[in-house]
Amino acid sequence: MFDEMHEECGVFGIWEKKTADVASSVYFGLYALQHRGQESCGIAVCDDGVFSHKKADGLVSEVFSRKELDRLGTGNMAVGHVRYSTSGGHNHNNIQPLVIRHIKGNMALVHNGNLINTEELRRSFELSGAIFHGTSDTEAIAYSIVRERLECSSTEEAVERAIPNIKGAYSCILMTATKLIAFRDPDGFRPLCIGVTGDGAYVVASESCALDTVGAKFLRDVRAGEIVVINDEGLHSVTTHCRKKENICIFEYIYFARPDSVIEGKSVHTARLKAGEILWESSPVNADIVIGVPDSGLDAGLGYSRASGIPYGTGFIKNKYIGRSFIQPSQNQRESAVKIKLNVIKETICGKRVVMIDDSIVRGTTCARIVRLLREAGAKEVHVRISSPPFIHSCHFGTDIDSEENLIACHHKSIAEIAEYIGADSLAYLPVESLGRLIDSEDGFCNGCFSGKYPLDVSGASCKNKFDEKIHR
Ligand code: SF4
Repeated sequence: MFDEMHEECGVFGIWEKKTADVASSVYFGLYALQHRGQESCGIAVCDDGVFSHKKADGLVSEVFSRKELDRLGTGNMAVGHVRYSTSGGHNHNNIQPLVIRHIKGNMALVHNGNLINTEELRRSFELSGAIFHGTSDTEAIAYSIVRERLECSSTEEAVERAIPNIKGAYSCILMTATKLIAFRDPDGFRPLCIGVTGDGAYVVASESCALDTVGAKFLRDVRAGEIVVINDEGLHSVTTHCRKKENICIFEYIYFARPDSVIEGKSVHTARLKAGEILWESSPVNADIVIGVPDSGLDAGLGYSRASGIPYGTGFIKNKYIGRSFIQPSQNQRESAVKIKLNVIKETICGKRVVMIDDSIVRGTTCARIVRLLREAGAKEVHVRISSPPFIHSCHFGTDIDSEENLIACHHKSIAEIAEYIGADSLAYLPVESLGRLIDSEDGFCNGCFSGKYPLDVSGASCKNKFDEKIHR
């Protein structure tokens, strides 16, 4: 409805030295990661080898009451997950944690990312008699690990043996009866970090902002390809699959992650300020005010304002309470749907030449509606600056950036034609060659949806059309 992209999952795990209210810790961690997925969530707790879990559709605050957390009970480890529907779509069996009992014990798995060889993996398991309960790629990861576990002496060794066969993006936390194992694919598309509390509890989370909520201090990122084991002996690492070059998703910095997170040592807030600064350098314009579209356009707007000297203003107020239960409007109600989500502060805009900074344009329909809101509020001119390059390709690594047919920049439209379509006086994007400046790195990141150069061969990977998927759901 709002023509925007979604990150598709967030993961959180905790290991305590002794029995504690780990379910509540995960609840707070997931709360901080809610922006990474709002469709469903779940928590699994391990108490002396016994697992209990709860998962359901809804926001963390909707699924977990105090009573539910008490029902999960205490334990010394727990993992949790927030989900937007990844590959496999919206199906109750796809909600995580995936809790499995196999011949050598129990495990609970949470996963952020998307595989590009799910079909191949599922087929090979099904041909040997496996029965899948859901349609997610996470189940294929679980099967891969369990199959290796049958032939080796530890779960971390099973993960190490499984990694070469699992292709794509996966930042995972796996809980067994005795340990927590965090691992990332060898490209490290999705973030994953480790923190430690004053009591010596280890915390693993998709983003560092979630560590803060449970009083943990950032220790370090899990390296791309690394397997980190946390148990009674402390924390140790297996680095067989680590390579020199990593490929973190650059769009985490532009849009997905929270601005108070630090990923791979780089602040998301600072990267967004930098994007605004680069936009001013590459596409300056005479104007009276700079505004950002909430949320991720705000910091980039501030960066543009600081670099240009043009005053920064609050142009929009965002209604934060639009959740899953928001009634889908009909086609002719869509204009008012945007107004319900974003309202213009007329005093900032009226009679002014406005520079509006947004993070991206997908189909262009929402951007056109927002520009129209500014015109209706009396803007004299509207100059749109986008803090990412144009999307010209889809993403195969755990976001719902659309199939190419739905991306406006793919339709051989020039920048001037897109500007006309959205009703802007001018339009400019962040130059693709400046992406590395956001994180002070020449390479070491994925920019596939902007350049078409993916770190992995995606020729066999299918791509979903999210608009179709929503209609058919
Ligand atoms: S293709 Fe784009 S969104 Fe997907 S991982 Fe790469 S940079 Fe991120």
